[in-house]
Amino acid sequence: MSEDISVVVVGSCMTDLVSQAPRLPKAGETIHGHRFFIGFGGKGANQCVQAARLGAKTAMVCKKHSKRDHTSKTGGQVGRDVFGNDYIQNFKNNGISTAYVEQTENAATGAASIIVNDTGENAIVIVAGANMLLGQEELQRALTAIVNAKVLVCQLEINPDTSLQALRMARENHVKTIFNPAPAIVDLCSDFFKASDVFCCNESEAELLTGMSVTSVEDASQVGLELLNKGCGSVIVTLGPQGCVVCQPTNAAPKHIPTTTVTAADTTGAGDSFIGALAFYMAHYPTMPLEEMARRANFVAAVSVQTVGTQTSFPFQKDLPTELF
Ligand code: ADP
Repeated sequence: MSEDISVVVVGSCMTDLVSQAPRLPKAGETIHGHRFFIGFGGKGANQCVQAARLGAKTAMVCKKHSKRDHTSKTGGQVGRDVFGNDYIQNFKNNGISTAYVEQTENAATGAASIIVNDTGENAIVIVAGANMLLGQEELQRALTAIVNAKVLVCQLEINPDTSLQALRMARENHVKTIFNPAPAIVDLCSDFFKASDVFCCNESEAELLTGMSVTSVEDASQVGLELLNKGCGSVIVTLGPQGCVVCQPTNAAPKHIPTTTVTAADTTGAGDSFIGALAFYMAHYPTMPLEEMARRANFVAAVSVQTVGTQTSFPFQKDLPTELF
């Protein structure tokens, strides 16, 4: 029942095509990698999976390719796409409601080509495909779930208008919103800030949005305040191994929340693990201070970077210390 759903994610699902290689290739270069695998990704779906694995009842509002072969309306042939159907099963395996996973014959399921080097850094190209066709109609069909949720989460791997509309639908119905402006766009509409209870971005997104460089905790505090001034409820800037900075209008100064020191095997999806965890805490512990939620989300994300893969590396509640719950 949609009334039970505490976290709704309106966002992307993508198939990850992952190559592990000693280093990232230069332009025009071909190099040998040592492992290839196909995984489930997309920022929206990743965040939803992490929230679900911590124990939130979740629903995903997204769009994927449907089963049949066809010729698209624009005349281009969209090949048979097995990825979309596998993705439905993946959502089900994670206990995520698929009631609002929509299908289209007019585009392929989104795909991400990912290269991970031996130190865990990555380079990613995404082709959003069907994700870009998620719009007003699909939001209306998911309306009951959205307005009855505790937390709505959006990113920018779908049409930004759809994300903004979803955030507004949630806000109008007193549902808390987390907005992750990723991948970042330079001229982000100012309404996104006003529609975000928590605006959560990483260093490079913060740089792109503000034009300020972020190379330290102090820089992150500065950009956090800059973003806060644009009208968000609170701002979190994540800083990889340095944890994150939390900026709130009630606090005089931004707060640095360090994370656990770990050996990173693959940082792909770390930000999604963090945001999924944050959504879980906001939905289940609404009175917990945001800084404490960020501390716990840091811990969850630090676990995720110790294993290769995106969703495969996201921990379940049963794998984590009980004091996190
Ligand atoms: P993104 O994946 O969007 O680039 P970050 O790299 O900032 O995001 O990582 C998000 C969060 O994941 C961090 O705030 C931190 O909690 C955790 N994290 C990322 N990298 C590491 C690391 N090397 N060691 C420990 N925690 C990490």
